[in-house]
Amino acid sequence: MSRIAVALLGATVVTAVTGVTTVAIAREQGWTLPRLLRSDRPAGPVTVVLNRHGGLVVAAEDDSSRLGYSGILERQGVASVEIPAFRGSDAEWDELRRCVQERFDGLGVDVVDEVPATGAYTVAHVGGTPDLLGFAETVGGIAPHADRVLEGSVVFVFQPQGVEARSLCETVAHEVGHTLGLDHTRECSDIMSYETCGPKEFRVVSSGCGEWEDRDCEDGNAEQSSWQRLVAAVGERPRRFVVEEETPPEPAVSSERPTLAVQRSAQAIAGQEFSVYVDVGDADVREVDLFWYGRRGVRLRCGEQNEAVPFACRREGSTYVFTLTAEKAGARKFVARVEDGKGRLTKTPVYRVTFERG
Ligand SMILES: [Zn+2]
Repeated sequence: MSRIAVALLGATVVTAVTGVTTVAIAREQGWTLPRLLRSDRPAGPVTVVLNRHGGLVVAAEDDSSRLGYSGILERQGVASVEIPAFRGSDAEWDELRRCVQERFDGLGVDVVDEVPATGAYTVAHVGGTPDLLGFAETVGGIAPHADRVLEGSVVFVFQPQGVEARSLCETVAHEVGHTLGLDHTRECSDIMSYETCGPKEFRVVSSGCGEWEDRDCEDGNAEQSSWQRLVAAVGERPRRFVVEEETPPEPAVSSERPTLAVQRSAQAIAGQEFSVYVDVGDADVREVDLFWYGRRGVRLRCGEQNEAVPFACRREGSTYVFTLTAEKAGARKFVARVEDGKGRLTKTPVYRVTFERG
């Protein structure tokens, strides 16, 4: 399991009481989350300061980026914390800032690393580890969240040993997303999702909300388009970054690579077992994967298990048989991929299958 940003819901109410709590904790304990008032803040750009220098943050009822107050600390019962500086070179820092800015490209979000002389800004402290704030080591970052833009928010993004640059960047964007009113989505390619299926961005596509299971969105809607919500909150701008498709490095071409023959069950019916047969011929095979794309994509590796998509895989001679059950009718896609003993990859084309109602 990679490190993931944890759901944080800051229940900001109009009375003096400000609570910040996680969605997960609130749900487990059956707390009622106060219905939050919609903001009358007009849509407009926000400034996000990424802080690499660390520093003192003090518990308070309300966040104040300028004063160094954090409601999350108050909620955690931590009086104050000295956040260590970002661990990394100037180049790595610049890359992080550029990466975060790119995630908000086309939106009214300025990602800087110097505190502006005037005006409201959100600060994201990048550094330290989650235990400083009393969180488990799986927590990648934490931010206040309400159903509106929380100006002056204080966000924490942790930098545990070995965290990947892209993961750190996506966690910053995710936590900042919370301060702009975004909930968690179930679309794995969305920055606000807990699940991962490749690089993430704020997606236009609407999807249900939730962490590992579907639930209603905190704003009462059934679905969230992260992009549309951000546009409503901070406004749109011309894009500054060229959108580049990330192309995986081409594996070395070799005539020795296996030809894969794929067959599938004749019938595809929701609720019934469905099999994909991948014949690898006489190839020296190390791994056989089935990439299965439903509402989100998963990699099913023969010999391993997958929590999201239960499946079985068995070998019959040179054929690997993946068997799974699609719970709902509708279209799916799949690709088989084989890695040989020399690390070379061979992929099939994308196959499409439509499951009928059972
Ligand atoms: Zn979150």
